[in-house]
Formats: sequence, structure tokens, C-alpha cells
Amino acid sequence: MNSYEYLLSDINNIKGIGTKTSKLFKKKNINTIFDLLWSLPRDTIDRTNLVKINELQIGKIQTITINVRKYNFPRIRNLPNRVLCDDDTGKLECVFFNSYEGYIKKILPLGSLVTISGKINYYKNKYQITNPTHISSDINSIKKIFTSYSLTEGLTEKKYNRIIDEVLKNIPDLDEWLSDEILKKFNYISWKKSLLELHNPKNIKKKGDFLSRLIFDEILSTFLINSKVQKNIKKIKKKNKKFGNKEFIKIKKKIDFDLTKDQLNALDQINNDLKSNQKMFRLLQGDVGSGKTIVSLISSINVISSGFQVCFMAPTEILARQHYNLARKLFDKNVNIKLLTGKTDYKDRKKILVDLNNNKTNLLIGTHSLFQEKIKYNNLGLIIIDEQHKFGVKQRKKLSDKGGNNCDVLVMSATPIPRTMIMTVFGDMDISIIRTKPKNRKEIKTYSKLDSKIEEIIKFIKKQISEKNQVFWVCPLIEESKKIDHQSSVKRYESLKKIFKDKVGILHGALNKDEKNKILLNFLHKKIDILVSTTVIEVGIDFPNANIIIIENANKFGLSQLHQLRGRVGRGDKESYCILMFKSNLSENAKKRITILKKTTDGFVISEEDMKIRGYGDLLGFKQSGLQSFRLADPVLNEDLFILAEKELKKIEKEDQKLSKYKTLLKLYDRADILNDLA
Ligand code: ADP
Ligand code: MG
Repeated sequence: MNSYEYLLSDINNIKGIGTKTSKLFKKKNINTIFDLLWSLPRDTIDRTNLVKINELQIGKIQTITINVRKYNFPRIRNLPNRVLCDDDTGKLECVFFNSYEGYIKKILPLGSLVTISGKINYYKNKYQITNPTHISSDINSIKKIFTSYSLTEGLTEKKYNRIIDEVLKNIPDLDEWLSDEILKKFNYISWKKSLLELHNPKNIKKKGDFLSRLIFDEILSTFLINSKVQKNIKKIKKKNKKFGNKEFIKIKKKIDFDLTKDQLNALDQINNDLKSNQKMFRLLQGDVGSGKTIVSLISSINVISSGFQVCFMAPTEILARQHYNLARKLFDKNVNIKLLTGKTDYKDRKKILVDLNNNKTNLLIGTHSLFQEKIKYNNLGLIIIDEQHKFGVKQRKKLSDKGGNNCDVLVMSATPIPRTMIMTVFGDMDISIIRTKPKNRKEIKTYSKLDSKIEEIIKFIKKQISEKNQVFWVCPLIEESKKIDHQSSVKRYESLKKIFKDKVGILHGALNKDEKNKILLNFLHKKIDILVSTTVIEVGIDFPNANIIIIENANKFGLSQLHQLRGRVGRGDKESYCILMFKSNLSENAKKRITILKKTTDGFVISEEDMKIRGYGDLLGFKQSGLQSFRLADPVLNEDLFILAEKELKKIEKEDQKLSKYKTLLKLYDRADILNDLA
């Protein structure tokens, strides 16, 4: 067995673990010995304090050596078994609930001298220990500091400690993977030693070189795995796309604005990728409203003009339709564009698929389901995925494979990611960023209002609607339960309906897709003026006429979410407003959030701040999305280590193309089984 293979082997391999115990561990998601090592001690229990019975302190964990004197096993069910013990200073009773007599007789033989440890209580003039877990004739096996781990029913502290001790004893010496220069920063402490320190009861919640080293290992391995995925994709040779800037010039004539510098930059980077014979795997990142769509459409027409097909995936049907209409408007009539959604009827659908296969269709636009379906392209040259920040490395890798070798990939995300997170979340991709928004954007005026001031808000809305403006009204999820979630929005909807009659619509989770679409279209076509909704309004749809967003219970939202919501308005050239409603006086955190929102509209600044307030896990649902999560590293607290790892990665990429030195590290830390996928 390779030294690291022991660590990656099933916990069954630990001496003293049988199927029953291993099942308990597996229930806790501890499958391998390595997993077990990362289930960290929480606290310590000091059982070194050896006293006499007359010195016992009630409520404390104490250790005593006693004589076993007398059994008291009642014949009545539900009454506990008792064992009377003493020393030369007093008496103590051990009380056992749900224990067999045979077991008690075995661990506490009459007349023997045993050491026992447990929490002391006092009942009917007697000291007691209830269900003691630590009893032994060997005082040294008890009189020590125990480490407490997160236990589960059937897994006792004693057993867990024994298992962990066994594993710690057997950690192999691994060849060092860190460079000397890095190792020096952590005082030359090895991986093995670091891990031992991590489990040392003395070090619980303590920081030190051992912790920094392990955190660094974790970050570096993530970066290296991402980099390996990226290299694998880059190795793929493709037919390069040949095009000039003829199409671009035609489109420029059709739009009534100039592209921003960032848009032009992104376009340049994409064009270079398309024209090269390396496969493109690029993320286009830009805040809501920064103008990613036009960049992606220009890229599409370039690819089409060079003789390839393009597939454009949007997250929702409405958005797909919006992109479709825009493409129809911008592209020449001879470009064959098709929209494929759940609504497309069978006959049309069949024709679309045949045309695609014959290369008659140049551009297929649809929802993300385009990816799952058995659609055969003739000559696919580019896949564009809009608003998919929740794809993990592994899923993206699959996507890239699926398109075939000649197919470039462009992923667009409206989620600004803090700097320290980029390498973690998108380390496998090249990145283009649109940072500045188009100049014509007006600042969105942001206010906070107490619920009790709702009359003022209504008055304000009335005036706005009379000027032909439209309003988003957002009620957050109050509870996890969908029912309650509806209640708050339905209530609001009904009260608004009394005032604004049939000019109010409501959108919530219980509606089906068609109902939702109908309401959104009604809003888009200005048949309703106010749209009440529970969850986040469909990502990315352009409602240029909506200029007011009201967010109830604003303290329920994180900073980034508030920013995303606010980004629904302010897309046209009208003055726009965001009103944050609060139930009662603002908490310190809420005040902080409002101050930041009022101060800046830069999504990157906001996401950095959000990460500082909430921790990275909560940032726009990374935790739920199953993206890379760390066992130890925290992008806020360990920013310096992230930066250090980024520098080290660059160095390694230059010197050690094969990453041979890091093989063990990568094998050990590859939680998503990505490396196996690369083979
Ligand atoms: P997002 O990046 O959120 O996808 P969109 O592509 O939907 O943003 O663009 C939002 C709006 O901004 C659209 O109405 C689009 O026409 C407009 N827009 C895009 N680029 C510019 C620009 N350079 N100047 C002015 N308006 C622009
Ligand atoms: Mg968009």
C-alpha cells in the first residue's frame, strides 16, 4: 500500500472498527481514514482530577478510585440498577439506566477496586454518578485528558478516542510536497506533525504554524486541481475560427450605444481565444446590467460567420426569448436563429432538431435544458451559458467535454466574486471581467423606511405610476416553509390590490412555469404596474421600464442579494429607486449594510464587504450549491494564505508542469473525485 493509500482507505481498516461502528461513522459522512482525521476535536474533558469521596464537587467531572460493595438490582421495570461503592472517606452510588446486570457485574465486580470518572450529582444524601462511561481497574487509562469529538448515538467518547488514537499512531510519514521557501514560513512543520498537533487536546481552538500549514495545503491543493483541469482542457486542439471585424461593424451600426472599454476588452480576449487553436474555456464576469449579452451575441455572430453553429443557454424561458428577439434584431436575415423551449410544440421541435443536424440552423437559443437533451449539432463551435455561477468545476468539465473538441465554451456570471474566491471557484477558467457599467446609468437612489411609514411609500408609488413607471415589490422568505412564505406576499398583494386594483400581479413559488411566464410578460408589456414577488425576481431579465424596487423585511437579505435585487431597476435612463423596508429599529449589521449599499454600486466591493459580514459560505448560496468547500480554510480569515497560495501556484505552474511533487497532496485532498475524471 502506498503511504497515502492507507489514509484514503475505508475506515473499516482501522484496528478495532467493525461493521457496526463503521456504519455509525458513515452516517456522519466519515468514510475514509482521511475523513476521520478531519473530523476535529471540539473540546477536552479533564479526567486527571483524582479526589476522595469527601472532596467531591457536585456538578463537576471527577475521577475517584473506589471499592465495589453491593448490588441493588430492582425487579421492577424502569427502575435503574444501582451499585454501592465507597472509599475510606464516604459512600458513592453508581446508577445505571438501561443496563444489563451481567454487564454491570463484569465492569464492577464485587469487592474489586476500580477507578471511575463522571459527572457528580447528589441525591437523597448520597453522591451519585449516573451511567458512568469510564470505569477501569487501570487508573492510568482513565486519569487523563480526553478529547471530545462530535459523537453520535452508539459511538461513545471512549471508543472514539481509542479509534482516533489508533489512527494518529499510524499516520504515515509522507514525502514533503511544499517548497522549502513555503515550508520555512510554517517553521518547517511537516504535514504529519501538523495533523498530530491539530488533534492534540492542548491545541483545541488554538492557532499556530500547524494550522496555517494545513490551511495552506488545503488551498494549494484546490488551486492545483483547478489548474490541472484547465491544463487538460488547454491541451485539446481545435479548428480555429476565422473571422474579421465585418460582423462587429454591422452590429455597432444597429445599437444606439458605444461599447464600454471593459466590454471591448472582453470581446478582444474572447476573439483571441476563438481564433486560436486551443479550446476556449472562459468566464465572462460582470455585475447585473454591465452588458454581457451584447458581448456574447457579437461573439456568436463571429463564430457563425466562420461557419460554426452556436448554442446559447439562458436560465429561464423569458430570458431565452429576450435573447432570441435581440439576436433577430441584430443579426442579418440570412442567419438562421431558432428558439427551443419547453413550450415549443412537437412538430416545430422536430424540425428544429433536423435543421440543427443538417447545419441549417446557425444559432439555437434555449434554456439550460438544451444541455441535457439529446440534441445533435452538425458543427457546434461555441456554447454560451448565461448566469450559471452555480456550476462546479466537475460540471463545467463535463460541459466542455460534451461540446466536442471544436467547441469553445463561454460562461457568463453576474455574481461578483471576491478576489480570494476567484481561484477557488473559477480556477479552471480564463476570466474576463466587465467592471465598469455603461455610462448612461443613473445611480439608484437607496432609502430605508420603517414598516410603519408604509403610507408614505404608497403615496410615492401612486405618483410614480401616474408617470407610467413600474414597481417591483419583494417579500422575502420568512420561514423555510413555503406556506408561510406565500402568506406574507399574498397578504401584501391583497392589501395593494385594494389600492391599485387589477394593476398588481403576484409571483410566487406555487405557480407553475406557464403562470409565472404569463405574469412576467404582463409586467413586461405594462399590463400591470406592480409586481409582488417572493423569491428573487428572475435573474437577468431586462425590464427597462421598472424603476422602483421595494424590499420588505430587508434585514432578511444579505448584502449581495440586496445588491442583486436592486440591480433589477436602473436599467433605463429614468431616475430609479430602491426602498428597503424594516420591521423595527435597525440592527447594527442592517445599518452597516445600508451604509454600504448607499455608498457604492460596485458589485465587487459589495461582495467583499458581504463576505466580511457573513463569511464566504453564505455568500449567494455557495454553501448550498455544493461548490468547493473547505474543511479549514476561510477566505476572509485566511486571505493572506490564499494570496500566498496563488503566488505559489504560478511558480509551480512554471517549474513543475507535471505536478509530480504534489501527487500525494492532490490525491489526498481531491474530494470531488476530479482527478479520476481527468484520466
Ligand atoms: P447583463 O450583464 O446583466 O446581462 P445586459 O446585457 O442585459 O446586462 O445589459 C443591460 C442593458 O444595458 C441592456 O438593455 C443593454 O442593451 C444595455 N447596454 C449594454 N451595453 C451598453 C453600453 N455599452 N452602453 C449603454 N447601454 C448598454
Ligand atoms: Mg444577462
